[in-house]
Amino acid sequence: MIRIPTHKREKHDLQEFFCLLTKRCNSNCAFCIEKDVHTGGFLTWSNFKEAVSFAKENGLENFFLHGGEPTLHPDIVKFAEYAKEQGLTVKMFTNGLRYDVLKSLDGIVDEIKVSYRSEAISFRFKQSEWKTKLYLGILATEDEFPTEQCLLDFIKYANKLTGMEVYVNTMNPVNQGSYDNQYVSYLEDKFLSLPIEDIFSSYHKAGFYLSDGTRVRMGNKSMNPGHPKYSMDSNGQIRDHFEHATASIKHNETLDLLLAPGKARLEVLRML
Ligand code: SF4
Repeated sequence: MIRIPTHKREKHDLQEFFCLLTKRCNSNCAFCIEKDVHTGGFLTWSNFKEAVSFAKENGLENFFLHGGEPTLHPDIVKFAEYAKEQGLTVKMFTNGLRYDVLKSLDGIVDEIKVSYRSEAISFRFKQSEWKTKLYLGILATEDEFPTEQCLLDFIKYANKLTGMEVYVNTMNPVNQGSYDNQYVSYLEDKFLSLPIEDIFSSYHKAGFYLSDGTRVRMGNKSMNPGHPKYSMDSNGQIRDHFEHATASIKHNETLDLLLAPGKARLEVLRML
């Protein structure tokens, strides 16, 4: 049995396993953190059963169908049904582009986390029409949401139109695009000015709530660096860490200076 070490302020159950059904994707995001995205084939049925057994035997009850874009896997419904039958809590991340495939998973998977793309794509999802719990993940950048009020207004609008629970991430700086866009001044200010007891760990990253109760997860602030994260690659290989794309990054001195106070506060939080 595996116990994933967590920060003592961790909010979530981190007994998780990430099963990469494929690295293929029907999108091409500049900030993508997935390693070797758009390459390779599909996870086989025998490897999938092996992944389910590994997760069950090791108490990794939160079983994620992951990618690339997992809905591209031709057998995703059969795979999800099997993982549920085996008693796992089945969750998934998706870009939401293949609505019909996702709808065929309704009531089978426990949670679907849809990353926001555009109103036309993401606002098709209406929680009232689904049995599965839906989440809408917004990746906040200062360009798209220049003020906190602008972000709060959008969250209210999205929630009103879809009924989905919304959460916010900032970028995890693993490549140039995400490095350049990780700094959101008003969220960074909040991270620096909130009382230390109001900062928690959200899936290993520093988190806090906005005034409307929306959870923010700071993608560039790991509360628990080096933590294990179990996954099966789409070729069937099991790892104790999640492989992210890493690219050489050209640092910007001004940006690094802006991020420095947050880094100092993060060091304090890591030691709590
Ligand atoms: S971020 Fe997600 S949707 Fe975008 S390219 Fe990467 S895997 Fe595909």
